[in-house]
Amino acid sequence: MNLSERDIQHNWHPYTQHKTAAPHIAITKGEGALLWDESGKTYIDAIASWWVNPYGHANKVIADAIYRQLTTLEHVLFGGFTHEPAVLVAEKLMQLLPSNQQKLFYSDNGSTAVEIAIKVALQYFYNKGERRTKIIAFENAFHGDTFAAMAASGISFFTEAFKGSLLEVVRIPLPTSGNEKVSYEALEALLKTNEFAGFIFEPLVQGAAGMVMYEAAELDKLMVLCKKHNVFTIADEVMTGFGKTGKTFACDYLTEQPDMMCLSKALTGGTIPMAITTFTQELFDGFYDDDVNKALFHGHTFTANPTGCAAALASMELLGTAEMQDNLRRINAKHLDFQQKLANHPRVTATRVLGVILALEIKTDGAESYYGSFRNKLYNFFIDHGIILRPVGNIVYVLPPYVISDAQLEKIYQTIEAALQEC
Ligand SMILES: *Cc1c(COP(=O)(O)O)cnc(C)c1O
Repeated sequence: MNLSERDIQHNWHPYTQHKTAAPHIAITKGEGALLWDESGKTYIDAIASWWVNPYGHANKVIADAIYRQLTTLEHVLFGGFTHEPAVLVAEKLMQLLPSNQQKLFYSDNGSTAVEIAIKVALQYFYNKGERRTKIIAFENAFHGDTFAAMAASGISFFTEAFKGSLLEVVRIPLPTSGNEKVSYEALEALLKTNEFAGFIFEPLVQGAAGMVMYEAAELDKLMVLCKKHNVFTIADEVMTGFGKTGKTFACDYLTEQPDMMCLSKALTGGTIPMAITTFTQELFDGFYDDDVNKALFHGHTFTANPTGCAAALASMELLGTAEMQDNLRRINAKHLDFQQKLANHPRVTATRVLGVILALEIKTDGAESYYGSFRNKLYNFFIDHGIILRPVGNIVYVLPPYVISDAQLEKIYQTIEAALQEC
């Protein structure tokens, strides 16, 4: 039996109906934007392995930092102890984050980063003796798969089975072109009830919804409204963080600053699972008290794992290099050219580009479901052609590692054009 055959004996895969799923491709090696399977076939990783890998697979700089850390101090509990990598990550992030972000809380993945933000928003008001138990989020949002994160997510495909067991979250429309007013008014009406502790959003780009984009100026207006009503704003930058939008954070396009931010995915360059939730001083001070009960009683065994911190530090240094910043501009320019080329394509109904993210919508006969048959046909077409793309319904998006070559990008574009002809 090969690896792919041995795998299905015991392994249960994410977002997978095992009865109908194709065998899982066994990857044995990665380098830059390329992956090799066990038969030696190569694939261009056009979605950076679910948006985590900007600096290339098996990156030497990050690997060396991890090795040095593993052989110095692999892990120590963060309760009662600290260590240099956590201090350095905090100091480095302070240079990169919006200036109002002052405190960091470490966890393991995007969902836990969101759980922590939501718990902090709720407990902040509890500590003050105020009852605010609900959260506001956008329609079609994605914030993760654990319970509070799932409650905040609005893609019913993922959450339908758990309705009734979830935290109360009320949704407003995304302020896309034409919807600015309904979005603003919906938020205003909710805020007036004084029942809400926080408003969570994916700034500028809703990733899992299919890279759906909206204007920074519209988000600014919603954030001003939240500030006026003392409702905390939570920017979930798990996908958008660390360069994907062309700036370090999507929030860098805003005039307003969020009260909290959630970071993960590219934080460690796609090497070690780690996440950070960041806070203003005001939020931290809401827990700072002589009364021990006002503390945030939340933690994870591997909180601030030194090896993860070392990977994050090396990753943030790579992002800051002239070479990587050039890559961001280079990929954006190539995407814009390709967008131009698709402008009048008879099968393309919409295109979007921000930073290294490119998305296009394909005209189909009926409505396409998230994991429907047209989507599967596209997915298989790309896999056959040695490209990893995971369309969302009829939306194809590209979000490559920043180190991808021009030739590899061209191959992705050409294969998308071929798919438009043949699928
Ligand atoms: C992926 C994602 C999450 C969840 O992160 P996990 O590490 O998969 O738990 C949360 N928010 C956004 C915006 C994401 O893209």
